[in-house]
Amino acid sequence: MADFNAVISFIKAQYKTDSFIPLHVPHFGGNEKKYVLETIDSTFVSSVGAYVDQFESMMQEITQTKKAVAVVNGTAGIQVALRLVGVKAGDEVLTQALTFVATANAITYQNATPVFLDVDLDTMGISSKAVASFLEEFGDLREDGCYNKKSGKKISACVPMHTFGFPVHLDELIMVCNAWKIPIVEDAAESIGSEYKGKPTGSLGKVGVFSFNGNKIVTCGGGGALVTNDISLGEKGKYLTTTAKVPHPYEYVHDEMGYNFRMPNLNAALACAQLEQLDGFLENKRNFANEYQSFFATKGIKFRTETPETKANYWLMCVELENKAERDLFLQTTNSNGVMTRPIWQLMYRLPMYAHCQRDKQVNAEFLEERIVNIPSSVR
Ligand SMILES: *Cc1c(COP(=O)(O)O)cnc(C)c1O
Repeated sequence: MADFNAVISFIKAQYKTDSFIPLHVPHFGGNEKKYVLETIDSTFVSSVGAYVDQFESMMQEITQTKKAVAVVNGTAGIQVALRLVGVKAGDEVLTQALTFVATANAITYQNATPVFLDVDLDTMGISSKAVASFLEEFGDLREDGCYNKKSGKKISACVPMHTFGFPVHLDELIMVCNAWKIPIVEDAAESIGSEYKGKPTGSLGKVGVFSFNGNKIVTCGGGGALVTNDISLGEKGKYLTTTAKVPHPYEYVHDEMGYNFRMPNLNAALACAQLEQLDGFLENKRNFANEYQSFFATKGIKFRTETPETKANYWLMCVELENKAERDLFLQTTNSNGVMTRPIWQLMYRLPMYAHCQRDKQVNAEFLEERIVNIPSSVR
């Protein structure tokens, strides 16, 4: 049995405190107050303003993409991204069961149905092998795309999710999805700053989506962004998320059902100040991950690290316990001693609204579900 009390002492020493240690809290150490006050003084607190534009160009630079669109949150971003790549009511979307519920909800908001496929053990993200074998069994490739032989429905997107900032094996996934004419929307909500073979996550699929919720590495209270290298698709995204208004000096003309998914300038101001510090946050977390790794190695506990050819942002760090009993004891011991830890999400098909969805054998997802625990990961 591993020494969990030593884990508690180590974490308390890292944060130099004896009081409660949460999983992840924001770090405001830059121009946050300055930019937010400027926004209030300018009166441009709402959906138009210089910080929204600045945020979008910063996101283009960080993700090395041609077009970024600021949106109200990551969930709304995924919903719109799915619409942009052609997901229509009644379609199906391939994704992983091991994810935060927002991934599946966004698919449902677009009136499509998720199909849950297994993850890779090393990345905890959707497995290209699982996708390939599912499609070999159920895929029916037609002129206009891929159909599911079992349901008769069109499979019109695949949404990989970079769990806790660990990039999925994208090259392999892109190859399989291209062969079956299935566009990829990356749920990069957790992975700003992560890289796959030198490229930022979010930039490799047709559209990538980020979140700036309060618990993410970079937060603006609430917010999200779509990124894409397809400029016209990006412009369509901006159009749809700003009520699909046809430009006119004074008339209200809307030629499609759009959304009010805009990010207010007030939030964009906070986002800009936070993005300015992203490199520092990433370095701080990487150093912390290295310390965790050396420490856990001496305790015989497996600390999860990035896979070869990738860079993780170490958003939420995690350990893999031996089995469920050991995991439960770890959760119990840490949480009752002021150190917050949390098991990975329950698989989506355990939730009542997603229990009916088609899925494959979830060998790896179920293995991880019983063993992975997040540990405090805030910037120190
Ligand atoms: C945070 C998160 C989202 C949603 O982001 P919000 O900004 O909270 O709507 C989507 N997917 C995953 C995997 C997330 O972790």
